[in-house]
Amino acid sequence: MIRNIIKSSVFFLLVVLAGCKSNSDSDAGKNNNKPKNIILFIGDGMGVSHLYAGMTKSGQPFNLEKFPYSGLSKTYSADNYITDSAAGGTAIATGEKTNNGMIGVKLDSTPVSSITEIAHNKGLGAGVVSTSAITHATPASFVAHNAGRGNYEEIAEDFLKGTIDVFIGGGEDHFRNRKDGTDLTLKLIEQGFDVVFNIEDLKKSQSSKLAGLLAKEHMPKASEGRQGMLSSMTRKAIETLSKNKNGFVLMVEGSMIDWGGHENNLDYITDEMIDLDQAIGVALEFALLDKNTLIVVTADHETGGLVLSGGDIPTRSVEAKFAGKDHSAVMVPIFSFGPGAEKFSGIHENTFFFNEFVQLLGLARK
Ligand code: MG
Ligand code: ZN
Repeated sequence: MIRNIIKSSVFFLLVVLAGCKSNSDSDAGKNNNKPKNIILFIGDGMGVSHLYAGMTKSGQPFNLEKFPYSGLSKTYSADNYITDSAAGGTAIATGEKTNNGMIGVKLDSTPVSSITEIAHNKGLGAGVVSTSAITHATPASFVAHNAGRGNYEEIAEDFLKGTIDVFIGGGEDHFRNRKDGTDLTLKLIEQGFDVVFNIEDLKKSQSSKLAGLLAKEHMPKASEGRQGMLSSMTRKAIETLSKNKNGFVLMVEGSMIDWGGHENNLDYITDEMIDLDQAIGVALEFALLDKNTLIVVTADHETGGLVLSGGDIPTRSVEAKFAGKDHSAVMVPIFSFGPGAEKFSGIHENTFFFNEFVQLLGLARK
């Protein structure tokens, strides 16, 4: 009895102390909470309409609806009001606005370090996950440095430079069906990577360095056999990277929301949107237990100029109109959860993500 009273008193005291701490923090208008881990999701081409169409078709609340903070990102590149995924990814990854078509380089083509590279240099784990080829513009922006986004075989070589611990996506051909005849996966194995070529082997891997090349080029659409795989890839990446006691930075891309936008295909968009939200749910589950993980979700740009011109929630129907078949200039949404999440509300340049991540992790640009 007395023991129980003491126990509950101690618990109460802890609750109160925790309450005081957070009160004084918010009174001071700043949050001293800093994350140990950052998981960044990029929905390529994901505008607010793409998201809401996915939510409407899903019929279930989205995991994203649990995120307490939201904002907007200005996506223009150095040379164009409308960015491509190379300049968009580079801005988010490196804090540097560059020209369309350029990966991880400044306007003069000199390399600029990404948040994953800087984190890795400081002893944190670093990973990228994508449903497209891992050498494609968005994931490449975090790992590679190349003035031409289409130089996939050169970009693949940058994955051997010791700056990334986990990469999972498509792109096998860029590593081992190359013009120069070399098999880069043999070199990865020499470096201690477990290299796997299918989702079953990926799930079984126990290695702390993991390369998953799950398709010759891009993975299939969610509706054509990939449904749920991004969640498994995200779970494996988190499981692998969280072995690092210093923390980790992970980027996860839902690549094909953009491709549905280019095709003006609403079902393609909503299938990919729902699949991405499920992967976000995996990260959220981890962050809720871990309590030291910041999750940020955003897009590199909007694709298709999508307008929801009609619909019905009970029957989960949406009618769409597209302004075009390419990217548009509109601002894209930001959602954040976890320590430091409040920093991401408001309107920001797309370069702001990098700067904020560096601050929050206490890293300095090298
Ligand atoms: Mg992409
Ligand atoms: Zn695109």
